[in-house]
Amino acid sequence: MASTEPAETPPPILVDETRVSDELICGICLSIPTDIPVMTPCEHIFCRDCLEQAMKLNKCCPNDRRPISSTDVIPLEKGKLLWRMWANIQVKCGNCGVGCPWKGTIVNHKEHTEYCLRVILANNKYDLLANECKKLKKECHLLAAKNAELKEEKDAECSKLKKECNLLAAENAHLKAKTSTFKKFKKERRQLVEEIEKLKEEKKTLKNSLSLLIGAREKNK
Ligand SMILES: [Zn+2]
Ligand SMILES: [Zn+2]
Ligand SMILES: [Zn+2]
Repeated sequence: MASTEPAETPPPILVDETRVSDELICGICLSIPTDIPVMTPCEHIFCRDCLEQAMKLNKCCPNDRRPISSTDVIPLEKGKLLWRMWANIQVKCGNCGVGCPWKGTIVNHKEHTEYCLRVILANNKYDLLANECKKLKKECHLLAAKNAELKEEKDAECSKLKKECNLLAAENAHLKAKTSTFKKFKKERRQLVEEIEKLKEEKKTLKNSLSLLIGAREKNK
């Protein structure tokens, strides 16, 4: 199977740097080659990719500047001493920081990354979702609390308004009653005034009759 997106594959981490021979370190990237290293005729070891890139600019060994051609560059022969020295380097998975416990020889690392990345990515996805879920749950709780608070506030406001409303209604009824009493008094007053007028009229008539009667009596004397 072709490797999955090599850019996402973190390089392995040496278990014990002191036990790795300097001869096996690529003179270009200063790391241990993760794939089978290549060797120049001058017996310098590099990562295949590093040396290919370097030779595009300069057809010489980056370590000692000896001219070389790409046909002179060969991968370490499997099983030979240098290959065994390289292949047996103990490394940890580059994803150890995010939970991958894999440890092994560098020769087995590449195969592991194909398996590891998938697990890690799947785990990360799961973690991401779990985190999202946690966040949403928290938000939900907060919103529920806020909602309850608002409801309480609203209820309090509502009952306050209801009370006020009742008071106003009572006052209104009182005022209405007062108004009708006032109207009644007004009507009664009008009636009394009319009656007084009437009585005044009567009094005038009686006064006239009385003066007429007095006049007639004086005549008869
Ligand atoms: Zn390199
Ligand atoms: Zn060289
Ligand atoms: Zn791993």
